[in-house]
Amino acid sequence: MSETFPEIREAVRRLCARFPGPYWRALDRERAYPTEFVAALTEAGFLSVLIPEEYGGSGLGLAAGAAVLEEIHRSGSNGGACHAQMYTMGVVLRHGSAAQKQAYLPKIASGELRLQAFGVTEPDAGTDTTRITTFARREGDTYVVSGKKLWISRAEHSDLMVLLCRTTSRDQAAKPSDGMSVLLVDMREAVGAGLTIRPIRTMLNHATTELFFEDLRVPAANLIGEEGKGFRYILDGMNAERILIAAECIGDARFFIDRASAYAKDRQVFGRPIGENQGVQFPIARAYVQMTAASLMVDAAAALFEAGEPCGTEANMAKLAASEASWYAADMAVQTHGGFGFAEEYDIERKFRETRLYQVAPISTNLILSHVATHVLDLPKSF
Ligand SMILES: Cc1cc2nc3c(=O)[nH]c(=O)nc-3n(C[C@H](O)[C@H](O)[C@H](O)COP(=O)(O)OP(=O)(O)OC[C@H]3O[C@@H](n4cnc5c(N)ncnc54)[C@H](O)[C@@H]3O)c2cc1C
Repeated sequence: MSETFPEIREAVRRLCARFPGPYWRALDRERAYPTEFVAALTEAGFLSVLIPEEYGGSGLGLAAGAAVLEEIHRSGSNGGACHAQMYTMGVVLRHGSAAQKQAYLPKIASGELRLQAFGVTEPDAGTDTTRITTFARREGDTYVVSGKKLWISRAEHSDLMVLLCRTTSRDQAAKPSDGMSVLLVDMREAVGAGLTIRPIRTMLNHATTELFFEDLRVPAANLIGEEGKGFRYILDGMNAERILIAAECIGDARFFIDRASAYAKDRQVFGRPIGENQGVQFPIARAYVQMTAASLMVDAAAALFEAGEPCGTEANMAKLAASEASWYAADMAVQTHGGFGFAEEYDIERKFRETRLYQVAPISTNLILSHVATHVLDLPKSF
């Protein structure tokens, strides 16, 4: 099957070659942010591919963004530090006012403004987003925000954050999904003036944090769209996010398959390459089949998204299939490498930890299965 966007892919590969395994390993040890890598991607324009040309981006579709992220991951790098710069702006693009688009999108396209943080999850709400309680109370021409958010990635490396909060409590809203609003928070003004960020150390290098809001004042002019309709606005952004994350999983799967194939040809045991044994070959071949099937689902979901068609189910299914393909490939690569699968210098164990995330975030596998069961197969709802 031919590659989509061969020129973009080649350019991304060349860029990533400047950031090889030792670069990522050193950061991983320190849980440090890949500042130079993100700057190089920004400068090359790869993070603004989805922003229309009139606002300074390349005006390409989601499939081009998916190709960029897939190649980043295939090279052994990780797009988690900056993928949100590509798609979080979608909520401003689709639902912001003309003035907001003009004020923010050109600066996001150039990288002058980093819109990398997306604040939805809360300690007591989990996957059930309608239970969020972070509240924005209107006082004249400002909102006063109080509450907590959990697992908000890149908050320390972002100038702006898309924040989902309640403006009407759940019990006062007509429907549980009503009464939520999206605010664009300027992190440069907020930190220390009502917003505290606490980093969380995790099994992978992901710059994720916990946020505490204590009467943070946000100008009412930073409300995106209409008050109370925020849940709907973030849902379309979530489809784009799931498709792009699925592309990262495809990249990870390709990384593991490339590395395992090379190692299996090279490593001699019992006087022959281990790859001559079908017990070693078949899991690599199976990983390739699973990755290819998932990749076709990612392409199909991206095509629907680009055509403006409903794609919630397809985006979810692509993400599930791709995250399972990458996890199978990760496990296969550890097994193929034997003891070296556990050695830092091979990068397999790092990528193994990194790719595990995608079965939990941005949405966990069970929730996707529940969507397919109840929305597609019409099975009874369990919650
Ligand atoms: C490294 C990292 C980065 C993240 N970055 C962000 C971010 O930038 N912004 C943001 O808003 N969030 C972020 N998240 C949060 C992420 O989206 C959530 O962790 C994810 O959606 C799962 O929610 P939860 O952790 O609350 O799990 P829970 O909702 O508590 O669920 C726990 C487990 O129970 C299962 N489960 C729950 N209910 C059911 C049910 N009814 N039926 C069957 N199974 C069920 C789930 O599938 C899951 O496996 C991040 C998380 C991590 C770990």
